[in-house]
Amino acid sequence: MNHPLRCGCGHLQGTVSHPEAVNRGVCYCRDCQAYAHFLGRPGDILDAMGGTDVIATQPRYVSFTQGLDALVCMSLTDKGMLRWYARCCNTPIGNTGRGAGMPFVGLVHSCLEGSSTSMESSFGPVRMRINMKHAKGQPQGMPASTFFSVLRFMASLARARLSGGHKHTPFFDVEKGSPIVPPQVLTRAEWERVMRAV
Ligand SMILES: [Zn+2]
Ligand SMILES: [Zn+2]
Repeated sequence: MNHPLRCGCGHLQGTVSHPEAVNRGVCYCRDCQAYAHFLGRPGDILDAMGGTDVIATQPRYVSFTQGLDALVCMSLTDKGMLRWYARCCNTPIGNTGRGAGMPFVGLVHSCLEGSSTSMESSFGPVRMRINMKHAKGQPQGMPASTFFSVLRFMASLARARLSGGHKHTPFFDVEKGSPIVPPQVLTRAEWERVMRAV
């Protein structure tokens, strides 16, 4: 069953198919924390230890059904990930590489919680915790069994790449090789401001 995707105000909507094929993890890195501050919503996006609950899947499984005009992206630096969000209400949507070549998107929980279907029932529990050294506290470690779910997920990305699955993505114009909107890259001063907030 598809899981609904929706920004906070409901302008941007879509679906995530193949919810069984995802890998769910929490990232504690400073960049993800800085991004939450950039959006002005750290309290909604980050957990008590500064973690972001992310659903890693393939862009071809994500489709937008309305409000695509609100979908924009930013990057903390000119080399960082593209971080897509709905500008109508500053809801984070997902993080991708800088091009369509990497068939990966890390969907941020904030756009997956606004429906009656829980994230647990669609995507299962959190299976990995990464960048724990930047957590504000001591998160529970990652059990060894989850290491294999990460490997399985990486293998599925490699298969997607081989089968041309990366050519189906709502985030990039694959012909041109560019994101559907130009990313807003933070200036040095803007970057320093959000990093200081972490
Ligand atoms: Zn919105
Ligand atoms: Zn991160």
